[in-house]
Amino acid sequence: MKLDTQSGYTNQKTTEREIIEKKSLKNSKKSDKRSSCKNYLTNHLNYMILLLNIIGIILYRISLIGCYGGEENYCITHFVVQFKILGSLLIISSLIVSVTICLIIWKKIKIIHLIYIIPTYYIFFYFYDRGENLEKHGGINFKIFNIILILFIILINYLVILLKLFKKKYYLSFLSLISLILIFPLFNIYINLKGKCVDWEYGLNNEKLIYLSKEACSIYPPPKCELDYFFGKFNLSKIYTHNFNKKSVAVKYLPKNLKKSNHLGFPISNIYYWDNKFSNVEYYKYVSKHMIDMETFIPNQGIPTPEITVKFDKNEEGTLNINLIRNETLVKERKKLENKNSLFKNVLVIFIDTASRGMLKRGLKKLFKFLESFMGNNINSNKKYGVYQFFKYHSLGGYTHINIQPMFYGKSMKSKGGIEFIKYYKQNGYITGMSICLCNSENFFDKYGKFTQYTEKVFYDHENNAVFCDPNYYDYKNGPKGLKGQNSLTKRILYGKQANEIQIEYAKQFWEKYKDSRKLFKLVLLDGHEDTSETIKFLDEPLTNFLNGLYQQDLLKDSIFFIVSDHGLHMPKFHYFFSRQQFIHDRLIPLLVIFYDKNNNDINDGEIYQNQQKFVTAYDIYETFIHIPFGKENDKTIFGISLFSYIDESIRKCKNYLELTSKNCRCKIKK
Ligand SMILES: [Zn+2]
Repeated sequence: MKLDTQSGYTNQKTTEREIIEKKSLKNSKKSDKRSSCKNYLTNHLNYMILLLNIIGIILYRISLIGCYGGEENYCITHFVVQFKILGSLLIISSLIVSVTICLIIWKKIKIIHLIYIIPTYYIFFYFYDRGENLEKHGGINFKIFNIILILFIILINYLVILLKLFKKKYYLSFLSLISLILIFPLFNIYINLKGKCVDWEYGLNNEKLIYLSKEACSIYPPPKCELDYFFGKFNLSKIYTHNFNKKSVAVKYLPKNLKKSNHLGFPISNIYYWDNKFSNVEYYKYVSKHMIDMETFIPNQGIPTPEITVKFDKNEEGTLNINLIRNETLVKERKKLENKNSLFKNVLVIFIDTASRGMLKRGLKKLFKFLESFMGNNINSNKKYGVYQFFKYHSLGGYTHINIQPMFYGKSMKSKGGIEFIKYYKQNGYITGMSICLCNSENFFDKYGKFTQYTEKVFYDHENNAVFCDPNYYDYKNGPKGLKGQNSLTKRILYGKQANEIQIEYAKQFWEKYKDSRKLFKLVLLDGHEDTSETIKFLDEPLTNFLNGLYQQDLLKDSIFFIVSDHGLHMPKFHYFFSRQQFIHDRLIPLLVIFYDKNNNDINDGEIYQNQQKFVTAYDIYETFIHIPFGKENDKTIFGISLFSYIDESIRKCKNYLELTSKNCRCKIKK
């Protein structure tokens, strides 16, 4: 019995041991499995990262699909604004690279893998995302990719540190996590307090947006004015400003004989054969083909003398020379065509792409003050000139062509029969000049002539745009880059001068050399056309000095000038994330100021004064443009009425404009 008991006890012990052994075996098998899995992962991590990165590259490539034919509208509404599927692919792709970089930082994978992983992406960016046009989102993806990449690397490292801290001092990691969660709502409250929109309804001379009638469109301030707070905070020019002035770059794509020359002339572009379907690349090829070697150039031999030349010194650094040549024959010809009814002798159209009404106050402070000095009851105010600001000037859509087609051609985008307004100026005896800081003529960013193909191309008598085809400014093979050329995030300096200074100098010479003639100059500035919304302030001083200079020389006598934009900020990046509410609102409320010599009996100042508070669009601007040379309204429609005439605002509703969607409409009917 005893034995039995003992044996029973022994038996029981054996079974227990067996169970323990079995368990530990099972556990060790499990841990073996785990460690082998870990080993497998460690051994193959490099390959897996490579595979993941290949997937990332494919996702990035797919995210570039979308803007067929370079249609700006599609890109902005479907990719940028809504930022759904394509945006998600871009984020995943960026996340993969950030994880790769973190693994390299933590020495989990060998640094040697950087050699193929990271360059593969950038080679991809180079070939597929050059940002030449909006077809592949105009380099937007590249910038977003890099911003997200940096944010992810910071966030991943932060979370890893948090995890390590949790094991030792859990309360510290807990506090840190809470602060991370709270940082966004707290920041939001801070911005709410800072950006209260108290100023939004006020313009020049503290004049305020008012509502003339109950039925009319009322435009209220956005709920938050974050842009007012963020302005000045993304000024990248403080960190990086470069003077692009090298001979080696300038002659990069030129024929052999020109490569040797130390003195080059940019061709007079208005003699080219022109096709509306010309792309920037074709335009560049035309310019490079017609570039002139000034070392051997003989004037009056059939080729027009270049007005803009660049001379290279021993260090191969270039200096620009601008010398607009007065055309005496032209002066005589136009004199004969002068119409005695024309409203003004001189017309200056200052078109600033991408500038909201609020931008005048934020980014162009000197200009703001200059304009104000002609207003108000101040004893120093000069009442000889009238300054009018249009509080309810509404964009037809948040991108360029939807507005500039009606503004400069009088017809909606893609409609037939649009005629460039300068044609009427030439017909009525005006000498015309133009400058745009693009390697292109009038069709802006319209690569295939999609929007401008039905419009009649009219050449200006003087054009300054060929200089902006210089690869120091615009490299047609690599497209505009973030820190160079027309979309540059920093000051745009070419041969020691800002792009806008080159344009303004040309306009100034045009104004002075044709002092006594009737003339029109159109200055197309792209200083606002970039993501940070900061570079526009570098236009402030040159533009104000130019206008003030004309005023001081009494050259604004019998003149009118327009400061006009197509839309507010629409290149999203920074502000889309930080300043959503004001960004979306101001995108549709652009800038329009009219300044003129009031010593003009043909104009009813009262009417234009009233129109400042009425709903107007680009169609009205076109009618105003053509009202001037004829001295009467041409073929006005209910949508296009000269700003000097009576506008019945009660019939002006967003829905009456074909291109203006209800989503874009900023009007509310006052209750
Ligand atoms: Zn634009």
